[in-house]
Amino acid sequence: MIYVYQPDLSGREREYLLDAFDSSWISSKGEYVDRFAKNFESYTGIKHATVVSNGTVALHLALHCLGLAPGDEVIVPSFTYIASVNTIVQTGAVPVFADSNAHDWLLDVGHVESLITDRTRAIMAVHLYGAICDMDSLCALAERYGLKIIEDCAEALGSTYRGRHVGSFGAVGTFSFFGNKTVTTGEGGMVTTNDAALAERLTIVKGQGQDPSRRYWHSELGFNYRMTNLAASIGVAQLERIDSILARKREIGCRYRVNLVNSGVRFQDVPDHVVSSDWLVSLLVPDGVDREVMMAEMEGSGIETRPVFYCAHQMPPHFRADLSLPVAQDIAQRGISLPSYPGLDDDQVDFICDAMMNILQKAKRRSVAA
Ligand SMILES: *Cc1c(COP(=O)(O)O)cnc(C)c1O
Repeated sequence: MIYVYQPDLSGREREYLLDAFDSSWISSKGEYVDRFAKNFESYTGIKHATVVSNGTVALHLALHCLGLAPGDEVIVPSFTYIASVNTIVQTGAVPVFADSNAHDWLLDVGHVESLITDRTRAIMAVHLYGAICDMDSLCALAERYGLKIIEDCAEALGSTYRGRHVGSFGAVGTFSFFGNKTVTTGEGGMVTTNDAALAERLTIVKGQGQDPSRRYWHSELGFNYRMTNLAASIGVAQLERIDSILARKREIGCRYRVNLVNSGVRFQDVPDHVVSSDWLVSLLVPDGVDREVMMAEMEGSGIETRPVFYCAHQMPPHFRADLSLPVAQDIAQRGISLPSYPGLDDDQVDFICDAMMNILQKAKRRSVAA
């Protein structure tokens, strides 16, 4: 079976993990935690990075520290991973769902503008599958209306927009190091900002709101969102190899696009000024092809594929019967992600493409016959 993802732990991950273990600094104090944050800052060029225990709490911490409160509205794409929306609700704020663009599957900035009210406080820009939202338009819009931008960069570590890393455009950026993300620590996350005061607050709040100069004096409401030194040790080793991990993922993305150019599938578009991390290479199956049948047939050939996300406004916790977001709903119905891990070799990519083209041909013959 070829899986959608398998982490590549072939560098110094094991060595650093055992080093952290042997040092007995296995909890959230230890040199790897600090090193991971420092190395992340130098890699992304963002001034401040705070390590946390996963990408979901990274979002919650960021939203909380921006001061979101009940009654506030946050504009978020409905087509996203559920954590983007859940964490808004967890602050008491209200998620306001925006549609996506057909070309890049990301926030439709024109629609975002039409949703702004006098309760809107923030916009969550989710950079899905490694592509990046239209930050020129989004930043201009946020500036014009006095809104904060939160960037959910969980899928876009290594992606750049006019040469600049994601997570540095908005007030705050968040990352995930889950096992299938470009860099993994098992479970893990990061919050980034160029604002020194916000950075200090993020660090205090993730550690129970404890005053940094007075133990057990809690100056504000906090959480325990810390990462262990064990997890961070893996992150340090992963980050040492991020350039080669990304290079291989981009080669794989390119090979899929070339091989499948005449197959009728439509890849997520990336404009020239964006370099995608190619986190998961994703595409829309052609009209008239049943996605579920196609995925089952791929599985029959020993290839795991993954449906893209469902729209948040169509699932029970965030259900909105009155809402129709035609582009987002269409992508959610027709999108799949292909195996995209750096350990895939060219023959495997070719094998996956051949299998897919055969299945598409068969589907076409079936629809002609019908
Ligand atoms: C993975 C992911 C998250 C959450 O990260 P976890 O580390 O799994 O909590 C948030 N947003 C997006 C878009 C993601 O892909």
